[in-house]
Amino acid sequence: PAEPVGDARSPAQEILQRVFGYGAFRDRQGEIIDHVVRGGDALVLMPTGGGKSLCYQIPALLRDGVGVVVSPLIALMQDQVDALLQAGVRAAFLNSSLDFDAVVDTERRLLRGELDLVYVAPERLLTERFIGLLDALVERGQLALFAIDEAHCVSQWGHDFRPEYIQLSRLHERYPQTPRIALTATADALTREEIVVRLGLDSARIFVSSFDRPNIRYTIVERDNPRRQLLDFLAGRRGEAGIVYCLSRKKVDETAEWLGTQGVAALPYHAGLDAATRQRHQQRFLREDGIVMVATIAFGMGIDKPDVRFVAHLDLPKTLEAYYQETGRAGRDGEAAEAWMTYGLNDVVIHRQRIDESPSGDEQKRVERQKLEAMLGFCESAQCRRVTLLNYFGEAAEPCGNCDVCLDPPELWDATVAARKAMSAALRTGQRFGAGHLIDLLRGKKTEKMTQYGHDALPTFGVGADIDESGWRSIFRQLLAAGLLEADASAYGALVLSENARPILRGEAELRLRRPRPRKKAGGSKE
Ligand code: ADP
Ligand code: ZN
Repeated sequence: PAEPVGDARSPAQEILQRVFGYGAFRDRQGEIIDHVVRGGDALVLMPTGGGKSLCYQIPALLRDGVGVVVSPLIALMQDQVDALLQAGVRAAFLNSSLDFDAVVDTERRLLRGELDLVYVAPERLLTERFIGLLDALVERGQLALFAIDEAHCVSQWGHDFRPEYIQLSRLHERYPQTPRIALTATADALTREEIVVRLGLDSARIFVSSFDRPNIRYTIVERDNPRRQLLDFLAGRRGEAGIVYCLSRKKVDETAEWLGTQGVAALPYHAGLDAATRQRHQQRFLREDGIVMVATIAFGMGIDKPDVRFVAHLDLPKTLEAYYQETGRAGRDGEAAEAWMTYGLNDVVIHRQRIDESPSGDEQKRVERQKLEAMLGFCESAQCRRVTLLNYFGEAAEPCGNCDVCLDPPELWDATVAARKAMSAALRTGQRFGAGHLIDLLRGKKTEKMTQYGHDALPTFGVGADIDESGWRSIFRQLLAAGLLEADASAYGALVLSENARPILRGEAELRLRRPRPRKKAGGSKE
């Protein structure tokens, strides 16, 4: 291990400059690298684009032997390795895209000590064959570290669960002396705990970077005339580069074409366009000034354009993780940038349908529905956007003064009584039910489930008949978004009161919520 250096440039800084060409560490990179170089375990939470890779690449170069990187993203391995090779780092990958000869060749170089970094898919890492290689490396003191990228894949409740990730705990059992660094960009508090438990990272230091992007201004408006609204938003931004996200390819095409007729330099981008067209549009976006890319979520991964001035969403993303990632493409240069979104409940219907029709299992679907509710709760919330967003990622924050809620506070109503009713409905039913049943209870609906549990005999039954179902849905979502209620992922999404709910329940605090919007007649608005 390297000696800590007080005065001169540290070995880590030297590599940062000489190999990677950067002048200084970002955020907590330096700390993390020092910790791992000295042999410590680490769990790193850093937003996408924050610079996670260097946190294991530099320690792998500083420690003896090879760093083994577990990554589920086969498509990205090639890019990472190419970039490392260009920088003069001896890197390779092992995954199912390689033929047998290439695998054997890489293994040989691994054993000869000719590699600094090797990227491996999790299913390969745990084969007898690869474990045999690792044993041999450890024997010679040539295993520098394990890096476990996208560590949230170990979470069964998450979106990206990979069963093979569970097996990675074996690394710790078999190679207790080898430091491990787990990294992820998406981990709420629960997922974080799960990563620690499942990967046996009890003694790991946890490094949490702030997810805040203070230069991004968040604005969310309800959709009434989306084209007019988008044009108004773009009016002050002529000549600026931006991305407009839509849910469907068809809408991308139509929106790009229509923006063209309005004098906006807009180009479409989605997976339905041929590769050459996509490539051409992407290049123009990167090289020319003021191009507006109208795109599905197919656009954005790996796009490195620091001066994207705005990201507009014409439809609701399906999770806050996605929203954060997509809006995060604005303002990478640190200059003021906008995240603007228009949403309608129609989007929710479409997302729910997609979830219902997807081939995923019931548990997965439940998680996806919950995430969608959180996304919608964020839109409807009367709380500072940044506070809600950061809380979702497990970070405390103060109202920011740079979002629509802070700058132009919404009309609120005193929802203390309604909130108390909602909470007592959850309490009296043992905190074992989701919003649907609780709303039926509040509205006094005698469903089969109601009579089966005898809930129609509860004093709460029917006390909320004055508010319609969609009004109650909005209240529950806002209670969730405000962290007063929590959805218990391990108990079928049952709503559970959080500590913060007590003062309201006991009548010691008031609660003001955004007024649910009056319901429009079906088909009344053109989306
Ligand atoms: P993540 O894995 O967290 O999404 P990456 O490791 O891919 O992020 O880094 C994102 C970008 O930031 C890359 O282009 C990387 O080269 C760059 N980067 C990382 N660390 C630094 C640094 N200290 N100074 C300048 N650029 C950096
Ligand atoms: Zn704010």
